[in-house]
Amino acid sequence: MPSPKRIPIFDGHNDALLRLNRRAGGDAVSAFLQGEDKGQLDLPKAREGGFAGGLFAIFVPSTEKKAATNQTAAPDFTSTPEPPGVDLADAQRTVLAMVALLYRIERQAKGDLRVCRTADDIDDCLDKNALAAVLHIEGAEAIDSNFEMLDVLHAAGLRSLGPVWSRPNAFGHGVPFRCPSSPDTGPGLTDLGKALIGACNRLKILIDLSHLNERGFWDVAALSDAPLVATHSNAHAISPHSRNLTDKQLAAIRESGGLVGVNFAVSFLRPDGGRNKTTPLDLIVQHVELLIERLGEDGVGFGSDFDGALVPEELGNAAGLQKLVQALRRREFGEKLIEKLCFRNWLRILRRTWK
Ligand code: ZN
Repeated sequence: MPSPKRIPIFDGHNDALLRLNRRAGGDAVSAFLQGEDKGQLDLPKAREGGFAGGLFAIFVPSTEKKAATNQTAAPDFTSTPEPPGVDLADAQRTVLAMVALLYRIERQAKGDLRVCRTADDIDDCLDKNALAAVLHIEGAEAIDSNFEMLDVLHAAGLRSLGPVWSRPNAFGHGVPFRCPSSPDTGPGLTDLGKALIGACNRLKILIDLSHLNERGFWDVAALSDAPLVATHSNAHAISPHSRNLTDKQLAAIRESGGLVGVNFAVSFLRPDGGRNKTTPLDLIVQHVELLIERLGEDGVGFGSDFDGALVPEELGNAAGLQKLVQALRRREFGEKLIEKLCFRNWLRILRRTWK
């Protein structure tokens, strides 16, 4: 029997830049390009698993967490209060370092990784087998109230933004990590947050709903003229975690022609929200199935959360992604639908949002 065709995966969320930026010593650029034992996403692992590209998040750690040195394990987010915020200057320093890191990787990659600003750029990377990186910012702490930094970041390639991470900032309240919990945990967007939605629409920057609480979600749904997108969240009906989406939220995403990227974090997959690495890969497929029921075949993609979360050990890291493709085949999804889930839906949504 011929070996089955590899399907490329375009992914809605990874924290590789955060992992690399936190490395104590050594060369972060080579660590990504040459790969290393630790971590879930680097160029060799991407090549092995068919990880063709995705949204590369820039995330500014909360001040207390940043002080904890040598943190290698993902923090326990099962049930924590909102972490403290970060100030503008600190956030801007970290964001600058992480944007620079991605561009240094691009420069040294000599065509093996490219920072993409348009859907055509991503198509071209897929054709040429280059890793397609899209700049995403997770939590807008680095953006000032005049949105000057937003313009600068957009010019530097920013094409996706989550107004908040799971903590409050000037733009709104993020959803704290709780399970079981409704996502309706507090107030939504501030007036400045609502203005940020308008600014993102004007610049055609994708607005990521994943870390918003429910009221913030509805604020964006009422204001935004773009398809509603949660880059890395799951179905609340299976895993009743505050980070996951209720059926009512999924209906609004469907109505907007939007998309949900299924998150591989075991805490957001499991019905008990627990951090158990023996969680079966098949639970990802169960979320995919339910989300297809709620959103249709065009509304579901992946948002791995590699380098930001504990994922099923059966999958391991980006090198294991074709195991997920095989699991979809075992459920007889069909090649056409599998291609939609793996990259076509994401590419269509980005093309529409960035038009
Ligand atoms: Zn996240």
